[in-house]
Amino acid sequence: MLATDGVSTLGLAPLREDDRFDVVVIADSTRADFDEALGVASGLIVRSATKVREPMFERAPLLKVVGRAGVGVDNIDLNTASERGIAVMNAPAGNTVSAAELTMALILSAARWVPEADRSIRDGKWERARLRGMELRGKLLGLIGAGRIGSEVAARCRAFGMDVIAYDPFLTQERAHELRLNLVGLDDVLKNGDVISLHVPLTDETRGLIGESSLEKMKNDALVVNASRGGVIDETALAAALVNGSIAGAALDVYETEPIPTDSPLRDAPNLILTPHLGASTREAQIHVAREVAEAIIAVLAHGDVSGAVNASEISGATGLS
Ligand code: NAD
Repeated sequence: MLATDGVSTLGLAPLREDDRFDVVVIADSTRADFDEALGVASGLIVRSATKVREPMFERAPLLKVVGRAGVGVDNIDLNTASERGIAVMNAPAGNTVSAAELTMALILSAARWVPEADRSIRDGKWERARLRGMELRGKLLGLIGAGRIGSEVAARCRAFGMDVIAYDPFLTQERAHELRLNLVGLDDVLKNGDVISLHVPLTDETRGLIGESSLEKMKNDALVVNASRGGVIDETALAAALVNGSIAGAALDVYETEPIPTDSPLRDAPNLILTPHLGASTREAQIHVAREVAEAIIAVLAHGDVSGAVNASEISGATGLS
């Protein structure tokens, strides 16, 4: 088992403590000894830096599983993996709380001008009147997407005294009831949310979901937060809405292009907080995702269970593992 990209070795405990596996950790996949280890590896664990594409698969004749310690598998060529019968496992749940907590940090920062206040003091000012904020208590959180992270954000916002409505066409009424979520239509969220927080995957339906027409429907004092995926918000439209004051503020952790291009309209937009995709950047999340993927890999290699694979439908029956 070969792990790279600084995957948390603490989180790899399930594999390290299992006699059936020999775990080799080489933090940098460009090192010469990485290729040597890859040549005999049955499993490879990466984060996002290493690009697992055709040439890498070529150098890994014994590979049966690739684990991504995190959610996105954009750095792994799924087609080639599937053609070769290689299962690709990710760790979708391990960073849920970290992403939800960052969302709270963004909501609170936007509501109370925290980054702007810090900048203002460093500029030698003391602007208590200009930086008057908004209490969350009694305000309405409008969630778009109420899966793992959205529902954790709902619970935390309720602790701040907020009411919650959610738009999620795929959530069953039963699950919504368990989560104490009031499911509504998209327009309801857009028109009534004081804080609108996005927690959806990037799909054909969600790409550009928040564009000019959605922004126009929002209240003038609404805050928009996106710690889900870039591309869900039309960044040009958002920057324009902030400039013309049709919404009060926004906070983003994810972008159409990362890092943000130097000429992005977001850089000059007012009342906008930007963080560089920090949702999963906690020590705890990195341990949890490594553990989650280690357990998923054991399920594949020791039990032939590929049901949790990202490419499960493409490889079922083709791996010779079950
Ligand atoms: P999840 O799959 O548990 O929840 C996503 C929810 O979105 C589901 O309930 C689904 O029904 C809903 N959904 C899908 N299409 C929709 C649509 N068109 N309209 C409304 N709802 C829709 O995922 P999650 O773990 O909660 O993650 C949410 C997002 O956050 C994902 O895009 C994930 O990649 C991202 N994420 C970002 C960070 C970060 O670093 N900022 C960290 C972790 C996850």
